[in-house]
Amino acid sequence: MIALAADIGGTVIKLGIVEDGRVLARDQLDVASRSRLLAPLLAQMADHWRKLLDRPASEADAVTLAFAGAVDVRSRRVEAMEGKYEDGPNLDLVAWAKCELNLPLWIDNDARAALIGEWKAGAGQGESELAMMTLGTGVGGAALVDNVVLRGSHGMSGLLGGHLIVDMHGRRCLCGNKGCAEAEASTSRLPQIVQDMTRRHGLTPTWPANAKLNYAMIFQRAAAGDVLAIAVRDHSLQAWSAAAVNLIHAYGARRLVIGGGIAHGSPQIVDAIRDYVDEYAWTPWGGVTVCLSQLSNDAALVGCSFLPQT
Ligand SMILES: [Zn+2]
Repeated sequence: MIALAADIGGTVIKLGIVEDGRVLARDQLDVASRSRLLAPLLAQMADHWRKLLDRPASEADAVTLAFAGAVDVRSRRVEAMEGKYEDGPNLDLVAWAKCELNLPLWIDNDARAALIGEWKAGAGQGESELAMMTLGTGVGGAALVDNVVLRGSHGMSGLLGGHLIVDMHGRRCLCGNKGCAEAEASTSRLPQIVQDMTRRHGLTPTWPANAKLNYAMIFQRAAAGDVLAIAVRDHSLQAWSAAAVNLIHAYGARRLVIGGGIAHGSPQIVDAIRDYVDEYAWTPWGGVTVCLSQLSNDAALVGCSFLPQT
């Protein structure tokens, strides 16, 4: 099956021609500084797919989209994507795919698509009880239970792994709760986390005030002995590790795949989470393995190509 696939994030839209789990051709649209609307981008996406394809688009089998936000899998509509694509809920994407490319359309959340990608063609192959945690701008989650991708009648089941509470006295999350994994350790919250650590430990950052914070920088500075970076690193590892145990306990996972840009930028994260899980997770079903995503940045792109089958 040949899928015209797109992994639609807030700053980049990754596009691919995917056949049976292999990305045959790829491209991307940088949308960071562009319109906050999705409609103007749809025609560009179709043009990119046509250029990438070595045959008429109508000879492909499906358009498959992964969104970094809430989607209604059944009606195949975008529900909400924070701060971006405000027109999403009003768009009839099925009609667009039919009219523009004469193809059927499937849609899902990006973390769930990443789980499906890893299950079908990556680090989760052959596993029936699988959980995925993605570490990036936010913290994402998804689960496979008894070989069934968990979606629920409302489409949100399994997706709120980033809002598992890892510190009941923790900082306020954008979801309204306190101490969620995403609030305690994610790129979007990193400036506040650094600020809190600075105050809590009476430290002064050794980097310029206008430095763009990211976890690769935090891990590099921590490895060089920077005390504030060590505090942020260790706090974040603790939050991700606690969330990992929660995910394993919630879904009875036998394998936990860790993905997302932060994990691929600092693979030691997976080692730290694995050590914590080995010590603290209770798995009466016989144990759990923790591993890094194999498909890396392609996981959601590959996964959405399998949506028609899952
Ligand atoms: Zn939350």
